[in-house]
Amino acid sequence: MRRFSYRAPETVAEAVAALAEGGPGTRLLAGGTSLYDLMKLGVETPSAVVDIGRLPELAGFDTSGPDELVFGACARMADVAEDAVLRADYPALAESLALAASPQVRNMATVGGNLLQRTRCGYFRGGEAFPCDKRRPGSGCAARGGLDRGHAVLGADGACTAAYPGDWAVALLAFDARLDLYGPHGARTIALADLHRDPADAPHREHTLGAGELIVRIRVPTTPAGRASVFHKVRDRESFAFALASAAVVLGFDGRGRVADCRIALGGVATRPWRSEAAERAVVGELLTEERAVRAGEAAFADARPGTHNAFRIRLGARVVARALRTAAERGTS
Ligand SMILES: Cc1cc2nc3c(=O)[nH]c(=O)nc-3n(C[C@H](O)[C@H](O)[C@H](O)COP(=O)(O)OP(=O)(O)OC[C@H]3O[C@@H](n4cnc5c(N)ncnc54)[C@H](O)[C@@H]3O)c2cc1C
Repeated sequence: MRRFSYRAPETVAEAVAALAEGGPGTRLLAGGTSLYDLMKLGVETPSAVVDIGRLPELAGFDTSGPDELVFGACARMADVAEDAVLRADYPALAESLALAASPQVRNMATVGGNLLQRTRCGYFRGGEAFPCDKRRPGSGCAARGGLDRGHAVLGADGACTAAYPGDWAVALLAFDARLDLYGPHGARTIALADLHRDPADAPHREHTLGAGELIVRIRVPTTPAGRASVFHKVRDRESFAFALASAAVVLGFDGRGRVADCRIALGGVATRPWRSEAAERAVVGELLTEERAVRAGEAAFADARPGTHNAFRIRLGARVVARALRTAAERGTS
């Protein structure tokens, strides 16, 4: 691993100043479960890291407010996953965290760092032996014509088909979460939906944070009583594995048992956390029958583009959506 300097600021303002001082080779360190991993692989080679993992300003979370749930960026995944309010009233959020990684990783990893973890594409992580436009712009893409079983089928028409691996962002997307940011030009708020970029022709630019900007907190509007939610995840083995396909569903019914509103977000199958308005349209205003749920799953993948080895993710993903809808409906009506 390349030598790097280490700074541990005591406030967010100091962290932003340290980022500006360090320049483009500086990286933020939260739990380190993703960053250190990539540093050991030689994919990330920062000259300096700024450790925000213990800043009190970023540490807490509060799910008791009437209007919103607030998560400091450095709240630990394990603590948030176990929160009683989340488990009872926002199960999709709790499930997306509880089904991620392992207990050891969740104890270290933060909810802010989770959003900005990088793809698990083997060619990206494989080092200089493989061309990768995400790691080294202009070098090409070994996944094209290579092993792409783990790659995206949605949003895969740009220069890179690497899948976004995280679970939490998928659930947050279904709840219309927002992010408070702080950087050299002060504070601003963006929708989580605007955090991750389409790879298009610049796959190395993965998010929309400005230079020296960091996530301070995540805010989720409280949902009206009666909303049901679920995060359903299918993977190669039953624990400690990333999603082959996942779906987060938030569902509300009207007085006649029809779907009044619905948010559906997909994970594992797309280049970024992926909201499917086509799947939502397939169920809103309707009774949520088995056939309707299946049709919504198919609608979610109508524009999917498979590569060489990943076509199975289209059928799998459609079934994951249908099952998530069924489970949310059971929770909403029981
Ligand atoms: C074996 C293994 C299995 C895993 N399985 C899953 C899984 O199934 N599902 C899943 O979702 N995740 C999974 N993960 C990923 C894990 O959840 C992430 O590594 C973790 O959430 C990252 O959080 P962190 O605090 O450790 O981030 P770090 O490693 O410290 O940082 C990650 C990135 O985010 C940036 N960053 C961190 N905090 C901020 C901030 N506040 N503002 C701006 N930038 C920031 C860092 O600079 C870095 O680029 C797995 C990880 C491992 C090692």
